[in-house]
Parts: sequence; structure tokens; C-alpha cells
Amino acid sequence: MILGEKRDGTVLTLTDLMWEPDAGWRERAACSGVESDTFFPASEEEYAAKAAKAICAECPVREACLQYALSTNQAAGVWGGLDSGERRRMRRRLRDRERRKAS
Ligand code: SF4
Repeated sequence: MILGEKRDGTVLTLTDLMWEPDAGWRERAACSGVESDTFFPASEEEYAAKAAKAICAECPVREACLQYALSTNQAAGVWGGLDSGERRRMRRRLRDRERRKAS
């Protein structure tokens, strides 16, 4: 399943998200030094996460960040450019895919 496009122009797939995260990804995070309220807004409204998603869109470690958030089941905030609802839907798709593979 194609999820989007990587910074290098290649496609981002579910398999990509199974990779072990780059151990040093946090050191290269575009959000380093940004107010945490930006990434953990008080509201779950779409507009509240807009500023965080704009930073994530330019982040060089977006894939590793998203993989970390999914693998550690981060329930709040914006990680890897996705808000909590978007990550829940992605986790659901991952689980459904695994179930189909197992059956
Ligand atoms: S993808 Fe977003 S939340 Fe993750 S490290 Fe980059 S800027 Fe921070």
C-alpha cells in the first residue's frame, strides 16, 4: 500500500514503516526547539495541528519519526506529519493488512 511520497520522490509504503528507526533521527528533527504546544495542541481540531504538519512536511526524519510513533503507539500529538486520528487510521490499516496476510 502506497502511503505517500518520500522526500527523494520515491513512494512511502507500509513496508517502509516497518523499518527499524534511524537511532539518531531525533538529532535531525525539524521540530527541535519548537514549542511543544505546537505539536501537542489543546484541541484535536485539524487547524490546531496545521503549523506542526507544515514543519513535519519539511523534516528530514519524518519517516523515522512516524515509524517510532506507530511502533510505540503514541496516542497524542503530531508525529511524522500525522495527527492522532490519522495515526489511528494508519494503525488500523496496518492491523487489517497483517490479518489478511495471516489468513
Ligand atoms: S516529523 Fe515532525 S514531529 Fe517528527 S521529528 Fe520531524 S518535525 Fe518533529
